[in-house]
Amino acid sequence: MRCYCGLPTIFKQCCEKFINQSKIPETAEQLMRSRFTAFKLQRFQYLVDTYQTKLPLKTSDFDTSIQWLGLKVIAIDRGEKSDSQGFVEFVAFYQSVKPEHLGKFEQLHEKSYFEKIDDKWFYINGAPLVKIKLVRNEPCFCNSGKKYKKCHGV
Ligand SMILES: [Zn+2]
Ligand SMILES: [Zn+2]
Repeated sequence: MRCYCGLPTIFKQCCEKFINQSKIPETAEQLMRSRFTAFKLQRFQYLVDTYQTKLPLKTSDFDTSIQWLGLKVIAIDRGEKSDSQGFVEFVAFYQSVKPEHLGKFEQLHEKSYFEKIDDKWFYINGAPLVKIKLVRNEPCFCNSGKKYKKCHGV
């Protein structure tokens, strides 16, 4: 059993404690992963609470027609417990639930920037990057346990 963020730990022992706000992420990666899980579960309040921006979002600003399929963390630059800034590069896979998009998926490849403010990590902004090439023989991004070519790559 994997968490929605892709780590080999069940949700209850991984992202849930952060989304419930009973624990605070210690690293930028933990925040990034738990934000992905919150997107997936449509726990929009957590996304609002962990996003530091001049124009605050409302939970109603989020698009509920998107279904998040999986996450691949590619690189981490700082963002450890002792840091106050950090970057996480990732690819998030998603599909629209609108009928005309069924069976198609998209990817968001981004380098996100995080900052620690008063001992709490926040998402600040992200730079979009070009799409990655998917390898047919690698495990599929959706955590089905199948190879990409036998799952979403069909
Ligand atoms: Zn997780
Ligand atoms: Zn798949």
